[in-house]
Amino acid sequence: MALQAISAEIESARAKSAHAAQHVQLVAVSKMQDAAAIMPLLEAGHRVFGENRVQETAGKWPALRAQYGDIQLHLIGHLQTNKAKDAVALFDVIETIDSGRIALVLSEEMQKQDRNLACFIQVNTGEEAQKDGIAPRDVEKLLRVCREDAGLNIKGLMCIPPAGELPDMHFALLHKLAHESGLPSLSMGMSADFKTAIRYGATHVRIGTALFGARESA
Ligand SMILES: *Cc1c(COP(=O)(O)O)cnc(C)c1O
Repeated sequence: MALQAISAEIESARAKSAHAAQHVQLVAVSKMQDAAAIMPLLEAGHRVFGENRVQETAGKWPALRAQYGDIQLHLIGHLQTNKAKDAVALFDVIETIDSGRIALVLSEEMQKQDRNLACFIQVNTGEEAQKDGIAPRDVEKLLRVCREDAGLNIKGLMCIPPAGELPDMHFALLHKLAHESGLPSLSMGMSADFKTAIRYGATHVRIGTALFGARESA
């Protein structure tokens, strides 16, 4: 099964690299995969998954959670304020905080629901106009808002490097920003580049295609 092969590749990349994290968490990206595709991973004992849409997660995961328990779901897609309530109820980790406004709305929802989700700030390391995430120079300011004004539990930073570029510079930049802010977690690396990300200190790799095969287009 691909889960074992990918887990072994993660561990081998980790063991080979001087700057790798002590532990690299595989976040299995199950977006656009149905319950039948996800269940073999759950049966094999994997419990950490990533989804990019609140709606899709609401349709898929409550039943799987009831059956398997103990699951940790990461939101890895953009979050709109009007979905914050559902996101807080459905997810355990939000990886895509990219504005003070979403931080404050999430904070209010967490208080209402008495839930304390771990969060990552998404950084637009390539400063691409069409991409979500905050510019590298604004990380420090947003981190302050998240902590002091919203009281969020910010664990680290997340990025998606620009397509068609070597990811190294982006992973190195995210590592530097996290280090400067004293943040312990780095969510970076996908199917095509997770080994590179691990070399730059990734603590979370988000892998879909290499685990599940190609997604059918929407
Ligand atoms: C889809 C997605 C992934 C997984 O990508 P693969 O190339 O299928 O491994 C990782 N991170 C984010 C934010 C995604 O949207």
